[in-house]
Amino acid sequence: LGVIRGIEPRIADAIGAEIADQRESLKLIASENYASPATLLAMGNWLSDKYAEGTVGHRFYAGCRNVDTVESLAAEHARELFGAAHAYVQPHSGIDANLVAFWSVLAQRVEAPALDRAAVRNVNDLTEEDWAALRRALGDQRMLGMSLDAGGHLTHGFRPNISGKMFEQRSYGTDPETGLLDYDAVRAAAREFRPLILVAGYSAYPRRVNFRIMREIADEVGATLMVDMAHFAGLVAGKVFTGDFDPVPHAQIVTTTTHKSLRGPRGGMVLCDDSLAEYVDRGCPMVLGGPLPHVMAAKAVALAEARQPAFQDYAQRITDNAQSLAEGLLRRGARLVTGGTDNHIVLLDVAGYGLTGRQAESALLDAGIVTNRNSVPRDPNGAWYTSGVRLGTPALTTRGVGAEGMDEVAELIHTVLSRTAPAAAASGKPSKAKYVTEDGVAREVAQRAADL
Ligand code: PLP
Repeated sequence: LGVIRGIEPRIADAIGAEIADQRESLKLIASENYASPATLLAMGNWLSDKYAEGTVGHRFYAGCRNVDTVESLAAEHARELFGAAHAYVQPHSGIDANLVAFWSVLAQRVEAPALDRAAVRNVNDLTEEDWAALRRALGDQRMLGMSLDAGGHLTHGFRPNISGKMFEQRSYGTDPETGLLDYDAVRAAAREFRPLILVAGYSAYPRRVNFRIMREIADEVGATLMVDMAHFAGLVAGKVFTGDFDPVPHAQIVTTTTHKSLRGPRGGMVLCDDSLAEYVDRGCPMVLGGPLPHVMAAKAVALAEARQPAFQDYAQRITDNAQSLAEGLLRRGARLVTGGTDNHIVLLDVAGYGLTGRQAESALLDAGIVTNRNSVPRDPNGAWYTSGVRLGTPALTTRGVGAEGMDEVAELIHTVLSRTAPAAAASGKPSKAKYVTEDGVAREVAQRAADL
């Protein structure tokens, strides 16, 4: 930090303060983790300065031999770890990985047949008329994904994201009684809507998904099954999700982030079967700019770490800890969406405490517990205030917190929320954002959180 301080001290201070925050608070954001020092060091070096558009052995710049080594090793570790036919490690983030996947499927299913029909190899060789027809066809495709309030992600076809503008989208939800994914309802929606892409995967669903059934549904309606395993990639890598719950053998294409339960650097990745490999490899320049060689190096290191036996133990502890957190909360009278968890997520319905998600998130933050507010299915408070708080165990598991510690975390969360109440806005009307926590509670809990 001394070197940085000599140039821009405010940045050195912000980095130092962030390290302190991450040390002292309880990081329960389900999408966050702590990458290893080896992973961080692989990222912080001069590889960052190299341009390497294209793919391994096929670059648009000279002098890429070291980047070729880095990219091939990262892809090899990814293939071996997940048992995938092909891996593409360039995406800069999860959103980028999903964009690569969408355009790969469109290139395979819409563009390639159009080129065949026009008897040309390249879009540049299409007549103006054929090109206009292809563009219309590309913009006229359908995607079916999990609804946002059931735990789906914005990139699965929702309007604020480019995916919702590219595709006509419909979503499937969860059973109103149980909160669980209803495969018969997904099948019925797929039969009626006939999407080009069926997306499975989630950001806030606390259960496993049966990808064998999802593939059967996709096959029945002629859709490509794409699984976004961003959240649970670490559980797949660590062999906690196997068989029907491992997406890789079932989906034609699988995307992920590398920084969540997988515990790598911030970034994305695409795995696919042989039929999609050539399209996926066109990610740069199709939708990506020059790759980030330093981040690919860090991905290689993190993936190598995930191939070690200790990672399987880590992944198992993530789910054991989530169970312990869920049980601890239930025992203290909390309401959980689906009544529990079988992954790394616990979705707490804070209406039971008389609070909105926004109030609960803020009250917990005051007490050193970092979470994020989240919609619950059919949320009466909408996506901004919400009625839920999403909790996740990957980061605390990395810090060595075990099942007993998670019960203590449940106690701290329950203490804060049961001693917090909504407060009125300045106008005197009920507020969905303002709250008051009983005196001294936040300070006491923050101390216990720091000691954990
Ligand atoms: N897909 C899922 C399921 C996610 O949960 C997220 C991020 O939260 C993303 C994609 C996007 O990842 P990124 O923020 O790296 O673009």
